[in-house]
Amino acid sequence: NQKLLEVRNLKTHFFLEQGIVRAVDGVDFTVFRGQTVGLVGESGCGKSVMARSILRIVPPPGRIVDGEILFHQGVGKGSTGQSGQEDVIDLVKLDPMGSKIRSIRGGEISMVFQEPMTSLSPVHTIGSQIIEAIVLHQPVTKEEAREQAIHMLERVNMPHPNRTIDRYPHQLSGGMRQRAMIAMALSCRPSLLIADEPTTALDVTTQAQILTLMRDLQEEFGMAIIFITHDLGVIAQMVDYVVVMYLGQVVEMADVNTIFYDPKHPYTQALLRSIPRLGRKSAQGQTGRLTAIRGSVPDPYARPQGCPFHPRCRKAIRGVCDQQDPPFLEVEEGHKVRCVLYQ
Ligand code: SF4
Ligand code: MG
Repeated sequence: NQKLLEVRNLKTHFFLEQGIVRAVDGVDFTVFRGQTVGLVGESGCGKSVMARSILRIVPPPGRIVDGEILFHQGVGKGSTGQSGQEDVIDLVKLDPMGSKIRSIRGGEISMVFQEPMTSLSPVHTIGSQIIEAIVLHQPVTKEEAREQAIHMLERVNMPHPNRTIDRYPHQLSGGMRQRAMIAMALSCRPSLLIADEPTTALDVTTQAQILTLMRDLQEEFGMAIIFITHDLGVIAQMVDYVVVMYLGQVVEMADVNTIFYDPKHPYTQALLRSIPRLGRKSAQGQTGRLTAIRGSVPDPYARPQGCPFHPRCRKAIRGVCDQQDPPFLEVEEGHKVRCVLYQ
């Protein structure tokens, strides 16, 4: 198992008038080549900021204040991994406007969003945008890039790629825009794709199609995926390894089966209880969405002392959980929990 990305003690904070929001506050996890890692948690837990930190697109007043994001370059290209050379670079150290991160962004690491118009321009045809991405990262002519773009549109099952390539985003349906964004994100064969709630805005049928498509493309291209979602049904279907976040910290991480069948952290347990028909479809075809769990996410400006989850935790020990920071313990190989109960 070759390491592709190592996030080490990452802290991304937002400096606002009302105070400091520690959106990501000491996060550690590793992504191996070809692996799918799910980042899960309620909205506001820091998962999107985590993703944007990797690509160095954190909007001001947010800033990475500590930690490392080690990217093993040259490891994930192609499916055979024959490249002997590997270069480890710390993405935190790069100038966020510099040429180095720009060559990595969209070339080796790309991102798809919930809202395709986050990455698609409304004033250019989807073809010209995909072609531009290809020409920026690969030594090909415009004609070759157009061929590749059509091929990618075919691969994402876009209807009539030869014609669709010359359409503007507003001329496409939501599902087709999502396919165009995926085609653009994958056009340079990234070794890492970051997918931030990529199917949340879609109807159930299109959602299922896009998820299947992403899995097929992952197998074909051998890329790793960081899949960000609050939908545990999607997690069950898509990922190998799960990182559960709460208020900017990782509270538990383990392989997907362990998370579903042997969750240790009271927050993970509450998340799982909140979905009655996990991974199964109800009569309406709805997968189990994360519904509210007891209490709400606390005020990000006033994080509780001690374990941040203690005001909502059924198992909280008074005088302990509200006082001391719980340790991050390895309960089994590859399974870590931030909770005093496992001390
Ligand atoms: Fe609950 Fe205490 Fe564990 Fe936090 S440390 S999750 S409050 S038992
Ligand atoms: Mg988000």
